[in-house]
Amino acid sequence: AHEGILRRQSARESAARTYARALPIVPVRARGLTIEGADGRRYLDCLSGAGTLALGHNHPVVLEAIRKVLDSGAPLHVLDLATPVKDAFTTELFRTLPEEFARRARIQFCGPAGTDAVEAALKLARTATGRDGLLAFTGAYHGMTAGALEASGGARDVRVTRLPYPQDYRCPFGTGGPHGAELSARWTESLLDDSKSGVPRPAAMILEPVQGEGGVIPAPDDWMRRMRAVTAARDIPLIVDEVQTGVGRTGAFWAVEHSGVTPDIMVLSKAIGGSLPLAVIVYRDDLDVWGPGAHAGTFRGNQLAMAAGTATLAHVRENGLAERAAQLGARMLAQLRALAAEQPCIGDVRGRGLMIGVELVDPAAAVLTAPGPPPAAPELAAAVQRACLRRGLIIELGGRDASVIRLLPPLNLTDEQASAVLDRLADAITTTAR
Ligand code: PMP
Repeated sequence: AHEGILRRQSARESAARTYARALPIVPVRARGLTIEGADGRRYLDCLSGAGTLALGHNHPVVLEAIRKVLDSGAPLHVLDLATPVKDAFTTELFRTLPEEFARRARIQFCGPAGTDAVEAALKLARTATGRDGLLAFTGAYHGMTAGALEASGGARDVRVTRLPYPQDYRCPFGTGGPHGAELSARWTESLLDDSKSGVPRPAAMILEPVQGEGGVIPAPDDWMRRMRAVTAARDIPLIVDEVQTGVGRTGAFWAVEHSGVTPDIMVLSKAIGGSLPLAVIVYRDDLDVWGPGAHAGTFRGNQLAMAAGTATLAHVRENGLAERAAQLGARMLAQLRALAAEQPCIGDVRGRGLMIGVELVDPAAAVLTAPGPPPAAPELAAAVQRACLRRGLIIELGGRDASVIRLLPPLNLTDEQASAVLDRLADAITTTAR
């Protein structure tokens, strides 16, 4: 069955298929960190549905919440009508939000995906301000629909002003440290304040507190506060995209808690649906300017996703899993840094909580290029990904050159599982780089 399924799918499916191409497995069962393939092989899954599975696969509290709805005879689809399931989800979500933000917040249910919520956020900011432009960052990823693409790095929409996202490792001036953040902040201020820059006052700034797809780049807390101050002083709504960083992933329930920044609009998806599709924006009440029907969509009230999401949010909150992610993540980062000290092909190890990135480089090519870090090593990264799979470990790649190994394990990972993940990864890197 395994080979047949892979063969038929690759013959029929779009050339754009991604995960299925890099990870030729046929999952048939899963529990916690483990996925079992149709060929009977078992894998430790550090992709976690691209960061969706805060509690891992098929967690009992999530399954129970879904079953409860199914067994209750409640309707599975009623558009965005008020239901007890929706009420419970909204209440639990607001309980987790930073207090100052939650006090004045409204929620808009969006389509099923993160990209739908990004669209809603951009549209709301444009409606509320009557302006059109957008400040977005290099290396950003916000989704694959038109507006979200426009906000993502690499797009060329004329309405978007692209600003440098702070980076230590590949700071354009090679100075590293907080310099990248300071540079980015000053650049932003001068662009907005210099009448000759040609940048009109935008409808919003959109940023990720940690860039995920961009290669796991955590923004310094000081920089976050500077961006908040810069936008607040100029009456520009700040949209914080927590699609990937939310629900404990970075070691705080929401990544904005690290810097204490209060966004104007938060974009939430992935883990809030407890492994099922769900996306919302939460925003300051005075931005709630749109009239009835101004933002609609058939699939905005997925009852099963809201039930699974409520169970997940509550479980993460009640069991202190954000703190757990902070502690375990710090330990894993330290171990990976020790590995990097012995492995010249590891250029950088970075992350926050259980959102971890390992950038692979080609040290031998460094002398041929400009000063600064060695060039990225995408082929090595792809080979390491394959070597991991052979060792029963699923990892994802990211970054502009797809040269950053990304780990997004469930937050309830045990110490033993974390060690097994790092052992397999270290073995894959060491053997492949030789
Ligand atoms: N924003 C961020 C920060 C993301 O990481 C992603 C998905 N990786 C999205 C938006 C888009 O979400 P979706 O794939 O569900 O459309």
